[in-house]
Amino acid sequence: MLKEFCFHHADREPVARCPECNRYFCRECVSDHDGRLLCSDCLLALTKQQQEQQQARIKKLLPPLQLIFGLLGAWLAFYLLATGLLSIPATIHDGTIWHEQTRR
Ligand SMILES: [Zn+2]
Ligand SMILES: [Zn+2]
Repeated sequence: MLKEFCFHHADREPVARCPECNRYFCRECVSDHDGRLLCSDCLLALTKQQQEQQQARIKKLLPPLQLIFGLLGAWLAFYLLATGLLSIPATIHDGTIWHEQTRR
């Protein structure tokens, strides 16, 4: 009967079998992930996959966010323009500008 050993350590008895790759691993080679004991290789692949999924989700979210920020930027520009235009008549109505010009 062939005795199973850890995939990474040929002299160590395995404590868990990775559900992803079905290989045996010792306690040192597996880590808990969402209640499952995965080997370091599969854990790495899984976290990488999750990261890629997260990045894909961010990429999907980015266009609407850009639209919102674009609208916010446009609104801010118009707001500043409007307040700027409102401040100009105030100085004109003050009369000081025209007096200075008509005296010359
Ligand atoms: Zn594995
Ligand atoms: Zn091991």
